[in-house]
Amino acid sequence: MNDTIVEEFRRLIQALLDEIEAENQRGQEGQQTVTLDQQSVGRLSRMDALQNQAMAKATQGRRDIEASRLRAALSRIDEGEFGYCEDCGDEIVLGRLRLDPAATRCVSCIRGLVTRKAKSPIQDVQKPPPAPPAMAEYCAT
Ligand SMILES: [Zn+2]
Repeated sequence: MNDTIVEEFRRLIQALLDEIEAENQRGQEGQQTVTLDQQSVGRLSRMDALQNQAMAKATQGRRDIEASRLRAALSRIDEGEFGYCEDCGDEIVLGRLRLDPAATRCVSCIRGLVTRKAKSPIQDVQKPPPAPPAMAEYCAT
């Protein structure tokens, strides 16, 4: 992967992080509004307020996870490891990175992962099919 593309991804990842940061700020303002409404017996019922708060927390959690993935991608850029699969070391295709710049595995490793998961260990310990009846039974007259 050449430097121009790496810089392109650095900007993209930074932009995504800025976006998450802006959403975090909006989320905090939203939570403050809920608190104020509660204190001043506002429009929102207690149930609504609690529900909104729970949703805001869940959204916040997802944003935190995404932000830490993106930060990890930025440090991979700094270490020169960005764009390489952490399992097999192959280059991750650009199309995949454009969809998810924080991707850490190539498509074939992801597929490999899925295939391994699909084969349940139960199949391996499954009993062999019942043996056909012994020939002697047919021959006996
Ligand atoms: Zn791989």
